Amino acid sequence: MLYSEIADVFDRLEGTSSRLEMTSILSGFFRTLDPVSLRHIVYLSQGKLHPDFFAVELGMADKLVLRSIAFVSGMSESKIDELWKKEGDPGTIAETLVKNKKQTALSYEPLTLETVLKNLTLIENAEGRDSQDKKTKYLFNLLKDSGPVEARYICRIVTGRMRIGAASMTILDALADAFGTKEDRPEIERAFNITCDLGLVAETLATGGVDAVRKIKVAVGNPIKVMLAERLPSIPLILDRMGGRCAMEFKYDGIRVQAHIDKDSVKLYSRRLEDLTSNFPDIASELRKRCRAERAIIEGECVAVDPETGGMLPFQTVTHRRKKHGMDKAVEDYPVRIFMFDILLADDEDMTLYPFEQRRSRLGKTFDLSEKVQLTSMEVVGTRQEGEEFFSKALSMKCEGIMAKSLSPESVYRAGSRGFLWIKYKKDYEEALTDSFDLVAVGAFHGRGKRAGKYGALLMAVFDDETGKYCTVCKLGTGFDDAFLAGMPDMLDGYLSEARPRMVDTQMTPDVWFLPTVVLEVVAAEISLSPTHTAAWGVVKEDAGLGLRFPRFTGRVRDDKGPEECTTANEILSIYELQTADKL
Ligand code: AMP
Repeated sequence: MLYSEIADVFDRLEGTSSRLEMTSILSGFFRTLDPVSLRHIVYLSQGKLHPDFFAVELGMADKLVLRSIAFVSGMSESKIDELWKKEGDPGTIAETLVKNKKQTALSYEPLTLETVLKNLTLIENAEGRDSQDKKTKYLFNLLKDSGPVEARYICRIVTGRMRIGAASMTILDALADAFGTKEDRPEIERAFNITCDLGLVAETLATGGVDAVRKIKVAVGNPIKVMLAERLPSIPLILDRMGGRCAMEFKYDGIRVQAHIDKDSVKLYSRRLEDLTSNFPDIASELRKRCRAERAIIEGECVAVDPETGGMLPFQTVTHRRKKHGMDKAVEDYPVRIFMFDILLADDEDMTLYPFEQRRSRLGKTFDLSEKVQLTSMEVVGTRQEGEEFFSKALSMKCEGIMAKSLSPESVYRAGSRGFLWIKYKKDYEEALTDSFDLVAVGAFHGRGKRAGKYGALLMAVFDDETGKYCTVCKLGTGFDDAFLAGMPDMLDGYLSEARPRMVDTQMTPDVWFLPTVVLEVVAAEISLSPTHTAAWGVVKEDAGLGLRFPRFTGRVRDDKGPEECTTANEILSIYELQTADKL
C-alpha cells in the first residue's frame, strides 16, 4: 500500500476539528484495509509503531532530523537551523523543503507502508556508537522518496509530534462504525481498556468481527487501563451515595503500580503505562516471591517509608525512585513498600468481572504478606462516625485521606473509567473551599518585573472527555517558587507549538502555546461562572464557562498523569454543582 494514501488521510484528519468528521474519514479508510495493515496504521496514527505501553520509542532529536532534511533538500544545516528556530516543527520544514525540491523534479520511488515500517523499525532499533548516523541515514531513505505531506508526517512521527487529533476514543468510534454497529461500541472499548492495545483490537475486529473482540481477555503483559475514583466533599455525602454502607481504605500517598506477575518474571506499569520495573526492582522480586498464583495482575500503591521507624513518608520521597540513573543507590536510600488494593487476574481467572469484596478476598488469599508487600488498611463503614474515625486514622498514618469503595454486586473493576464505585476524600477537601485539581498547561504568558525573561503565568486547562478538547479554567501565576520559575522553560519548551493546538479550546491568547502534556496540581478557593474560560461552556449558563478563583500551584508536578488523565470538565461541573448546592 502506498504511504501517500495514508499521509493524505492524516492530512484530512488534521484539517478538521469535528470528531464526527474524523470518525467518518477514518471508518471509510479502515474498511479498505487488510487487518494487518490496519493494525500498523492505527499505531502510526498515534505516532507509534507499537501499543503505548511498549518501552521502545522512536524519539529522534530535532537536530538529527534536521540533518536528514539538509541531506535531502541540499540546504545547509545552518539555514535549516534558522528555519527551525522560527517554525519549531521539523515536520513543517521538511514539507516546505521537499515541496521545493520536487519542483526541480528529482526522480523518486513512491514510498510504501512496508518501506516506512521497515525504516522506522531500523531507526527504533539503531544502537551503538554510530546509532545517530544510522538513524539519520534511515530517515534520509524515507525522506528522499517522500512527497511533501508524507515528509511532514514522517518527521512528526520520528520526533514524537504526531498529534493529528485522532484520540483513541475517535479510533474506537471509527472501528465500531467500520466493522460493527453502535451497540458494539462498549464491547470494543472494553477490549481496548483491558489490553491498552488499539492495534490489537483493530486487527481482531477486522479479522473476526465483534465475536472475536468479545473473546479478548485480560492477560499478563497487557496493561489494563486503571479504574478511577470520583470525589465527594464529605463522609455523609459518600455514605449517601454508597447506599449507607461501603468499604473504606487508606488513600496512600505514593505511586500507583499495576504489577503483571508471571511464572518467573514481573513487570510493573505506572498508570500512564510506563514500565517502572527498574524503579522498584525490590518490590517486583518480593511480589513474585510472595505470590501463590502462577500468574496474577494486581494493583497497589508504592509508598516510601522511614527506614528507622517504618512510618510512611510523603509522595516527594518515593519520586526519588522515578529517576533514570543511579537506581541502585535510590533503592538503598529510599525503602518502599507496596500496599495492594486490587487483583485483576488470578491464574487464568479474569477478576475484573467480580465485585469488589470478592476481589479483595481473593487478593488476600493470593499473597503471603510481608513487611514489603501488604494490603491497604480497610474497614467496612456504615455510619458517619465510623467514617470520620477511619479518616482520622488515615491522616494519623500520614495518608492523604480515604478511598471509599462500593460493596454493591455491580462493583466490578471498571477498566479505564471514573465513577462513583470508588470515591476519594482527601484532607485538602476540608482545608480549601474546594480541593485540588490536576490541570494541563496549554500556554504561557511572559513575565514582567521580577519575572521578566521568564514565564510569569500559565494558561491551564481541564480535559473534556466527551469532545476530546482541553478547555481552560484559569491563568495560574501563584505558588511558583524561584527554582520552579527558573526550571519552567526546561519542563515546558519541548512542547511548544507554533499556533494554538487544535485540541485546545480557549478564548485567551497566551504569548506561547504548548501541546497539552505537563500536568500540575492546583488548589483553588472556588469554581465560578466565567465569561472567558471554556470548561463546561454553556452548560450552567449560556455564554459562560467555569473557571477557578484564586488558583495556586501546590508545588506538585503530576508526572504520573498524562494529559487525558487530568481533571475533567465534568468533574469541574459536578464540584461546581455541589458547591452551589452547599450555598442554598
Ligand atoms: P487521585 O490521583 O487523587 O485521582 O487519586 C487516585 C489515586 O489514589 C489512585 O490512582 C491511586 O494511585 C491512589 N490510591 C491510594 N490509595 C488507594 C487505594 N486504597 N485504592 C485505590 N487507589 C489508591
